[in-house]
Amino acid sequence: MVVVPRREEGYKRKEAVLARYIGSSCRLCRRENLKLFLKGDRCYSDKCSFERRAYAPGQHGQKRSGRYSDYKAQLREKQKVKRIYGTLEKQFRGYYYRADKKKGITGTNLLLFLECRLDNIIYRMGLASSRNQARQMVRHNHFLVNSRKVNIPSYQVKVGDVVEVKEKSRKSSRILEAMETVVRRGIPDWISVEKEKFRGVLTGMPNREGLTMPIHEQLIVELYSK
Ligand code: SF4
Repeated sequence: MVVVPRREEGYKRKEAVLARYIGSSCRLCRRENLKLFLKGDRCYSDKCSFERRAYAPGQHGQKRSGRYSDYKAQLREKQKVKRIYGTLEKQFRGYYYRADKKKGITGTNLLLFLECRLDNIIYRMGLASSRNQARQMVRHNHFLVNSRKVNIPSYQVKVGDVVEVKEKSRKSSRILEAMETVVRRGIPDWISVEKEKFRGVLTGMPNREGLTMPIHEQLIVELYSK
């Protein structure tokens, strides 16, 4: 018998490796009750949906949320982190297993795996205005890692790796705009960027204190280790 896996609502699957969320990004912020900064400039403007409608999406969004439970808190935390970094369930679970096998604190390892994704590093360097945009540009071959073409958004960047914009893509308005507006969110101190050369280097691994999004990774560990 062939078992067809159920799809999560709003997800499209062309091929197994290209599955991605195609629903509304703002809806995700409203669901998590937190600005996840998924849409670049719009997130800093008064067009931000979360600023205008800070309640859960859907017909019953304005009703009182149901009873609190540990499971609910753990599930929401996992969904939030998954959505911040733009990964789907299977891949996210894979990161958890790798984090669990690695020496050290599982929750911190998990966040480090997510932070070292190529699309995230490009976003952190200010070469894209959101992780979604970074992911799309990586797939469209706009970046090199250590002078070699890489078009896999989940590629793990290592300390010392040089990420640069391809010569041909340096006039892209999206990249130029992102480089101008990055001052609003700042570049973390574990990344060094040479703006004029359109490149940056991961100078060290971030520590937990350097990751400032309000994330309680221990809840995710509790959820998956049940
Ligand atoms: Fe979230 Fe940005 Fe949409 Fe605001 S504009 S709701 S921060 S994705």
